[in-house]
Amino acid sequence: MRDNGRDSRSEGGEWALDLVGVTRRHGRGARAVHALRGVDVRLARGSFTAVMGPSGSGKSTLLQCAAGLDRPTGGSVRLGGTEIGAMGERRLTRLRRDRVGFVFQSFNLLPTLTVEQNVLLPVRLAGGARDRERARRLLARVGLADRARSRPGELSGGQRQRAAIARALITDPEVVCADEPTGALDPATAEDVLALLRGAVAELGATVLMVTHDPAAAAWADRVLFLADGLVVEEVRPDAVGVAGIAGRMRALGGARPGARLGTTGVRGAGVAG
Ligand code: ADP
Ligand code: MG
Repeated sequence: MRDNGRDSRSEGGEWALDLVGVTRRHGRGARAVHALRGVDVRLARGSFTAVMGPSGSGKSTLLQCAAGLDRPTGGSVRLGGTEIGAMGERRLTRLRRDRVGFVFQSFNLLPTLTVEQNVLLPVRLAGGARDRERARRLLARVGLADRARSRPGELSGGQRQRAAIARALITDPEVVCADEPTGALDPATAEDVLALLRGAVAELGATVLMVTHDPAAAAWADRVLFLADGLVVEEVRPDAVGVAGIAGRMRALGGARPGARLGTTGVRGAGVAG
């Protein structure tokens, strides 16, 4: 049973993901770097949350702590009701594979495997008929039904990211963590990928946490959290403020718009170090 680690879901983890007072410090004493200074983030099931903020504000650290890839130095991280902060390495590795989906800017597909094999990679007993059927359904959903036997190298960037999304969804994870999923894509292809993430939330009940620099990408989310210097400093709803409102808040925090030149004067305020 690959759903082993999922039992606590029925124990009533109210939130897909619940971070309370999360801190992450690198090093000690005077030279310590405080990547996160006490962050509270709750993700309801079936929600789409974007995280923005200047370079160095803690976005990747937040995503990695949420996904069990990094360990907080303080506070609590609950994934579907399970506290993962103090979990042993083996359990954490299993939980990451079974209950977290990952989408990266660089796709991270294994080049020697077919698309279908890549999608099945997180499945513990890959190759079972049920899993293969689910992989087929997901590949059809992301528009790759006829590419199941292709290798990643034969696909365009957008197709690779769509395969990565199918892989992220294969275990029906508690949360899908996406770090700049559209960072390597042209705007039209980025839209396709964002529409797929949106669809996974709306139609499959997926919960998505996405880091992005792009206000237009963030606008696909239900809400946008802004980080500055290791703290969540603001939260907006795209349907209320629009892309322009999101971009304006990024500028106010000293963050760059995509394609904007981020010179040394571009990083300022909130003690942010590039
Ligand atoms: P972002 O993704 O928003 O650019 P990060 O989460 O990568 O920010 O980093 C937040 C802060 O933590 C930065 O100041 C960064 O330099 C620091 N940091 C991240 N990882 C380490 C590390 N392994 N050692 C020391 N400092 C780190
Ligand atoms: Mg980062």
